[in-house]
Amino acid sequence: MAQPTTEQHASQPRTVLVTGGNRGIGRSIAEAFVAAGDRVAVTSRNGDAPDGAFAVAADVTDSGSVDAAFKAVEEKFGPVEVVVANAGITRDTLLLRMSEEDFTDVVDTNLTGAFRVVKRASKGMLKLKRGRVILISSVVGLYGSPGQINYAASKSGLVGIARSLTRELGSRNITANVVAPGFIATDMTAALPEAQQQAYLGSIPAGRFGQPEEVARVVRWLSGEDAGYISGAVIPVDGGLGMGH
Ligand code: NDP
Repeated sequence: MAQPTTEQHASQPRTVLVTGGNRGIGRSIAEAFVAAGDRVAVTSRNGDAPDGAFAVAADVTDSGSVDAAFKAVEEKFGPVEVVVANAGITRDTLLLRMSEEDFTDVVDTNLTGAFRVVKRASKGMLKLKRGRVILISSVVGLYGSPGQINYAASKSGLVGIARSLTRELGSRNITANVVAPGFIATDMTAALPEAQQQAYLGSIPAGRFGQPEEVARVVRWLSGEDAGYISGAVIPVDGGLGMGH
């Protein structure tokens, strides 16, 4: 019988839940876990999922919907061992034009949404006595960006969640880390004006935009045994754009 390659698990497959996994970065993350042989569930509002993943419709702004999604996944696959809080939105505009709703909607999805998902996931992880929490932030969270006060606030807040969670549950064999992508080619960045895309390109030391798969590989590595002693870290995947921020 063929031995597992380093890309596959030598141990049992795990139950993995990726929020916002129907497209973009989340979809690539889900595909990477499927390829590694894990049991993968994907949530989004429209309920699509890549091949090989279990699709569950869920809105991260609604804790009842998040709870129902976890129940469906637990029934099908058992407790969630790896959770990737990836669902996110932007509503960019300069501060003086930003409505309170622009601010609170983005925070409700990106930050409070992650809180709802992580809180629900932690119940099963505590019972399992192990777990991996990965929060998809952004270079913008610590670097800042004009026109993104709402988004930057939501993304830097994820660092506080990961570090507090590490202090709260680190002794229970649960790690919590942040992945901070730079400019990755997805629907979210395609929606930016061409001039803004070119301005970003000029400031990225790597001289190119990133691909969703480049984020996915880091997320999967962080969820694996080799990263078992990493917690509360912020891992950039940004071609040098944030450079240590
Ligand atoms: P996309 O816009 O392509 O995808 C966003 C995902 O989030 C979709 O799956 C969407 O599904 C889901 N989503 C949005 N709102 C909700 C909600 N209320 N409930 C459930 N799911 C929701 O974005 P990207 O793939 O580019 O981004 C993924 C993550 O990476 C985001 O958190 C983003 O902030 C972050 N990021 C992206 C960067 C980039 O350059 N692309 C850079 C840095 C960070 P649906 O709409 O069907 O519900």
